[in-house]
Amino acid sequence: MDIQELVKPNIRSLRAYHAEEVPCKVKLDANESPYSAISLGKNLQTLNRYPDPQATALRKLMVKGLKVKPENILHGNGSDELISYMITTFGGPVMYPVPTFSMYGIISQALDEKKIEIPLDKDFDIDIEKTITAIKKYRPKLIFLSSPNNPTGNCFSPDKIKTLIEKSQGLVVIDEAYGSFSGKTLVPWLKKYDNLVILKTLSKVGLAAMRTGFLIGAPHLINELDKIRLPYNINSLSQVAAGFYLDHMDLFSEQTQELIKSREELFNALQKIEGIKPSPSKANFIFFSCDFDTDSVYRGLIQEGVLIKNLNSPGVLRNCMRVTVGTREENEEFLKALKKVLFK
Ligand code: PMP
Repeated sequence: MDIQELVKPNIRSLRAYHAEEVPCKVKLDANESPYSAISLGKNLQTLNRYPDPQATALRKLMVKGLKVKPENILHGNGSDELISYMITTFGGPVMYPVPTFSMYGIISQALDEKKIEIPLDKDFDIDIEKTITAIKKYRPKLIFLSSPNNPTGNCFSPDKIKTLIEKSQGLVVIDEAYGSFSGKTLVPWLKKYDNLVILKTLSKVGLAAMRTGFLIGAPHLINELDKIRLPYNINSLSQVAAGFYLDHMDLFSEQTQELIKSREELFNALQKIEGIKPSPSKANFIFFSCDFDTDSVYRGLIQEGVLIKNLNSPGVLRNCMRVTVGTREENEEFLKALKKVLFK
């Protein structure tokens, strides 16, 4: 695929901003303060200096276990930022199934790019016929697929994803924000498909405050995106924290396994509540529909001190909610409050 052809003309002619990284005794090139009031540990440069501009050390860690190279990685201030870079660089039409993560639509609209929304089928999987028809009609430059999908929690069928990648003349972005909880990744497919891009984030596995996401794709695609990346987009503290995470993934993966177990317990408990229909989930949340008015369930839960997501809106999300899997104690409190609100 000729990535250059897909890039918007205004971006095609851009050159990336590159801060020079030259080891030196006296650093007077970046208008930083020479005074270091705070230092946060031996791994972290003093706070008066800008962060590593290319996040070189971090990108080296990000490739761990993925069988890709640092030049396949672009780092972002959360994956939200990388979604925005994709749409800024390539433009629309932008296609995605609905319901899904709202930022694909919000950023497309903010950038005045055409959005094409294709409803998911009754099992919340890709409606392959409708999507292929729409691909032929609109020739989307970008297709976003959140798998596991937020808010429905399911992974899309690999066969359907494969068909879309093969039929699309644009790029297909698989957003694996919740991939740790599904245990599945399409990263190995990158070898076969040069129009495939994968998004990952550390936000769901314990580092949301650090705002660290990364995008994996072909090096020439990364180079295009890098042109519009804001200088120093990941701050030093985040780079160190993310580095720590990636160096200690075993420790964090125990937490992920715990959450997966709790997710199944929570799902079973929700299934037993009359009028609640939870959907099987491969993420760290559970989507459920209610035979009740969720606006009042939502308010009732807040009165009990429990906040979940009320998705209620006309159409498939009518009286639907999404609850994040918490600790076992939090899940118990939520279930207790839910039963109280529903049957008081
Ligand atoms: N993709 C999906 C599917 C999400 O649900 C979210 C967060 N809600 C994001 C991306 C953004 O994550 P980040 O915190 O890395 O910006």
